[in-house]
Amino acid sequence: MEAIKRNILLNPGPSTTTDTVKYAQVVPDICPREKEFGGLMKGLREDLVKIVHGDTEEYTSVLFCGSGTINIDIVLNSLLPEGKKVLVVNNGAYSTRAVEICQYYGLPHIDLHFPVDQRPDLVVVEQTLRDNPDIALVHTTHNETGTGILNPIREIGALAHAHGAIFTVDTTSTYAMRPIDIEADNIDFCMASAQKGLMAMTGLSFIVGNRQIIEASKAYPKRSYYCNLYLQYDFFERTGEMHFTPPVQTIYATIQALKEYWQEGEQAKWERHTRVFEAIHKGLDELGFRDVIKREEQAGLVVSAIYPDDPNWNFEAVHDYCYARGFTIYPGKISTTNTFRLCALGAIDEQDIRDFFAVFREALEHTGVQVPVRYR
Ligand SMILES: *Cc1c(COP(=O)(O)O)cnc(C)c1O
Repeated sequence: MEAIKRNILLNPGPSTTTDTVKYAQVVPDICPREKEFGGLMKGLREDLVKIVHGDTEEYTSVLFCGSGTINIDIVLNSLLPEGKKVLVVNNGAYSTRAVEICQYYGLPHIDLHFPVDQRPDLVVVEQTLRDNPDIALVHTTHNETGTGILNPIREIGALAHAHGAIFTVDTTSTYAMRPIDIEADNIDFCMASAQKGLMAMTGLSFIVGNRQIIEASKAYPKRSYYCNLYLQYDFFERTGEMHFTPPVQTIYATIQALKEYWQEGEQAKWERHTRVFEAIHKGLDELGFRDVIKREEQAGLVVSAIYPDDPNWNFEAVHDYCYARGFTIYPGKISTTNTFRLCALGAIDEQDIRDFFAVFREALEHTGVQVPVRYR
C-alpha cells in the first residue's frame, strides 16, 4: 500500500483520514442490491447505535446519502405531528440552519434566539415550553461548530421531556469524538456524517434514534419524498437496504473507520482530540491570539480565533501559505466578528499541531504581521 500525501485538515470536516480508510474504498465493483452489501450495512447500523451507547432494541440508526445537513432536514420534516410546533434553541449557525429548514417546509416553529457566544438560558427555554404546550419537538446543536460552544443538551432534553416533547440534537461535530450517551443525555435523535468524527469519507449521513418514535411518525404528514425518516427506516427494516442508491465506496470506508474507532477506543480517542485542542490553544496563546468563547464553555473541538488588528493581516494570504505546505485553516462563521477556526477533528495528534504552528508563525512573518499579534 503506497502512502498517500498527508494533509492536515484543521477545518471543521471533512477531516484528515488514515490511509487504511482511504484504501478501503478500492474494492471490486459490486451492485449494492446484492445481499453481501446489505449484510455490511446491518453491522454498520448497529455500530452507529453502539457509539452513543444505545440499546439496539430500543434505538436504531438510519442511513442517508448526503452531507450532514440532510439529517437536520429529515428529523425536522419527519418527526413533527400535524398541528404541532418545533422549538429551536438557537445560539449559532447550525441551529439557524434548522430554523431555515422549518421555514422552507412551512413548519410552525419558534426560533428561540440567544447570543452566539453564550449558552442558552434554560429558564427562558423552560418558560417557552410552558407557554407553548403545542411544542412537540425541541431541536438544538451540541457543539455549535461556527463558534465551538458546547450546549447543555442533557438539561435541554430533560426540559423537553418534562413538557412532553421529543428532543433532536445536531451532534454532527461531537459524535464519535466527545462521548455521548443517548439515554443519559436525554436524546431521542442525534446525527452525524461519516466525514467528521468517524474520520471516513463524505457522502454518508446517519440519524440515530428511538425506534418507537420513528414508528409513531408513520402517521405524521409526509413532507418530503426523498428525505423521510420513516420511509427509509421501514425500507431498511424490510429489505436491509437503502431505499435508493447508497454511497457504496463511502460505506466501505466507514466500515474500516469504525474498525479503527473501536481499536482506538472512545476514551483514548477523546483524549487525543483533547490533546490536539489544547495544543491549538497553546499555539494561539503563544502568538497572542484571542478566542471568542469562554474556555470553559468550549466543546473541546473547535477554536474560533479573532482576527488581529494589524493592517497586514490577510486571512487569505495566511491560508494560502499554510495550504501550500499541507495545512488547511478555515474562516469563521459569526456574522458580527471576523474570526477563523482551527479544529481538533480527524486522524491527527499533538505533533501535527506543533508542525502547523511552525508554518503558521512563518506565514505571519512572511505576510508582515507583527508577532505576537496585537488587538486595539
Ligand atoms: C458539519 C456540520 C453539519 C453538516 O454540514 P454539511 O455542510 O451538510 O456537511 C451540520 N451540523 C453541524 C453542527 C456541523 O458541524
